Amino acid sequence: MLRINTDVAVIGGGIVGLSTGYFLAEKGVRTILLERNLCGCEGSGRNGGGVRQQNRDLREMALAMEGVKIWARFAEELPPEIEYRRTGNLKLAFTEKEIDALKEKIRRENNFGLASEFLDSQQLRELSPNLNPKILAASYCATDGQSNPLHVCPCLANRVRDMGIEILERTPAREVLVSSGKVKGVASDGVQVSADHVVIASGPWTPELLRSAGVEPFPIEPKISQLLVTEPALPLLKHFISHPDYCYIRQAVNGNFHIGYHSRPVKDFDRRSTMECFSHAGGFASYLVPKLSYMTVIRGWSGFTDWTPDSAPVIDRIPEVEGLFVAAGFSGHGFCIGPAVGRSLAEWIVNGTPDLELGSLGIARFRS
Ligand SMILES: Cc1cc2nc3c(=O)[nH]c(=O)nc-3n(C[C@H](O)[C@H](O)[C@H](O)COP(=O)(O)OP(=O)(O)OC[C@H]3O[C@@H](n4cnc5c(N)ncnc54)[C@H](O)[C@@H]3O)c2cc1C
Repeated sequence: MLRINTDVAVIGGGIVGLSTGYFLAEKGVRTILLERNLCGCEGSGRNGGGVRQQNRDLREMALAMEGVKIWARFAEELPPEIEYRRTGNLKLAFTEKEIDALKEKIRRENNFGLASEFLDSQQLRELSPNLNPKILAASYCATDGQSNPLHVCPCLANRVRDMGIEILERTPAREVLVSSGKVKGVASDGVQVSADHVVIASGPWTPELLRSAGVEPFPIEPKISQLLVTEPALPLLKHFISHPDYCYIRQAVNGNFHIGYHSRPVKDFDRRSTMECFSHAGGFASYLVPKLSYMTVIRGWSGFTDWTPDSAPVIDRIPEVEGLFVAAGFSGHGFCIGPAVGRSLAEWIVNGTPDLELGSLGIARFRS
C-alpha cells in the first residue's frame, strides 16, 4: 500500500475537479487529484462546448459571469487547442409566448448585470443570416462563447501538473475516509491519500462517494446526452444557437457542426449513441439552419449528465464531516461555470468562506 500525505485530495478530473486543483495550486496548497480513468473522459470532455451565461438559473449567474472571465484567462494560459472564443449565444423563439418569456428572462438578467438583449426577426437575420426565417426572435448575449471540450481537460491537467499538483489517473477513489466527524483522506486501490480536506467532484458518481463517507447523498439522476458531428463546411454560423424544444448547434473552429439535444434518463450508464439522436437532432438542426439539411454526418458521441431535482448543482461543505466538500449535480450545464466553482472551492478551503455567495446552492435544500 502506497501512503501519500497531502493537504487536499480532489476526486474527479473533470472541469470542476481540475479547476479546483488549478486554484489550489495558485494558492500554494499541496493537492493530489484522483481520476479513476483519464482527465476529461466524462461529461467535461464530451459536451456541447457552450460557455454561456444567459438563460441560467439566477443562483448560478455569478458563477457564470465570473466563469467567463476565468475562461478568458485559460485562453491565454492554455494551448490554442482549447479554442475558447466569445462568439455570442442566441436563444431562439418561435411563438409569441416564447417571446414574452425571453423578454422576461432578459429583464431578470439585465437586473443582474448581464448584458443580454432582445433581437426581433429583422435584427436576428442581420446578425445570423443562415437561420430559418420562421424564427421570430432571439435573446442574444455577445460575451457568451464556446470552447473545444475534447482538449480543455487534458490541457488544463497539464497546466495543473506544471503548477505542482499531482494527478493520479486510472486511480479510482473507493472510499472517503472519515474518523470522529472529520475527513482523513481517500482510499484507492493500493494507494491511501491522507488529507485534511477532500473535494468530491465526481459528477454522476458522487452519491456512492458521499455514502462511503457516511453522508446521506442528495438526489442525482444520471442522464445521457448525445451529439452528432457533420463534415466541415465554410463558415455558416458564428454563434452558439439553441432552443429547448429543438436542439443546440455550434460550428467548431475547423468548420464541423456539433449538434446536440436534451438529456434523457439512462440505465446502467449505457452511453451507446442511438438513432433517436440522428433523427431528432438532425431533423431539428436542418429546420433551424436549412443549409445543414444535406450535410454529411461523420460521427457522434454521448456523455452523462448529473441532474438534481431543481436542475442546479450542490456546491457545499458537508456540515457533519469537517473538511469534506462536494460539487456535483450540474444538470447538463456545468462546463461554463466549472472554473468559477473550482475557484470558490479553493477559496473556501483556504480562507474558510467561498469568494461568491453560494448559500442557495447548498445541500440543505435537499434535506428535510
Ligand atoms: C453531450 C453533453 C453536452 C453538454 N453541453 C454542455 C454545454 O454546452 N455547456 C455546458 O456548460 N455544459 C454542458 N454539458 C454539461 C457539462 O459537460 C457538465 O456539467 C460538466 O462537464 C460537469 O463537470 P464535472 O467536473 O462536475 O463532472 P465530469 O466531467 O463528469 O467529471 C467527473 C470525473 O470524476 C471521475 N470519477 C467518477 N468517480 C470517480 C471515482 N470514484 N474516483 C475518481 N474519479 C472519479 C470521472 O471519471 C470524471 O472524469 C454537457 C454535457 C454533455 C454530456
